[in-house]
Amino acid sequence: MDELLSLLFAAAVQFSGLPAIDGRPPLQAMPYGEMLQEICADLEGERPRLEAQHDGCIRSHLMQPAACDGLEYEAGKYARCTHQKGLMAAYIIEQRKIVYRDELDLGNDIDNSFIVHEFVHALQQYHYGDRIFDTCRGVMTMERQAYAAQQAYLKSRGQLLRVGERLRFVGCGDLL
Ligand SMILES: [Zn+2]
Repeated sequence: MDELLSLLFAAAVQFSGLPAIDGRPPLQAMPYGEMLQEICADLEGERPRLEAQHDGCIRSHLMQPAACDGLEYEAGKYARCTHQKGLMAAYIIEQRKIVYRDELDLGNDIDNSFIVHEFVHALQQYHYGDRIFDTCRGVMTMERQAYAAQQAYLKSRGQLLRVGERLRFVGCGDLL
């Protein structure tokens, strides 16, 4: 396992072009539901405040509840986070660790390519700093780089799977 992780970490460095770092982030396998709770934990702390904000807005805009749509969106973030589908792994920035769903077979090139992807996020955090993930544009740029590295890794392993296609359909719009 340790040898495999070293190889995957080296692949993340090679295919992202980012400088290597000393410490490799730890990995933790988890059942899917638990993994989502772990990933969404920072949003949960904010949930009561955001829900109260939305409720307060509705009470003071009884005639035009649409004025509170933005706040409703904010209040629903935790629920959307814990109900997302198809996530394989994630890098938790605050904890500097990778969580991945326990159905993944790390001996399989396609499955372990998602670990390469998350290793790239760890390299990015070190190279660009935590703040890079604060804005939508920053996150999009980091995702593009991580998917490009994952894709190059898959290609090097003779795998034809395409990853990151979804990214082409989402944008930041007016968000920063
Ligand atoms: Zn990513």
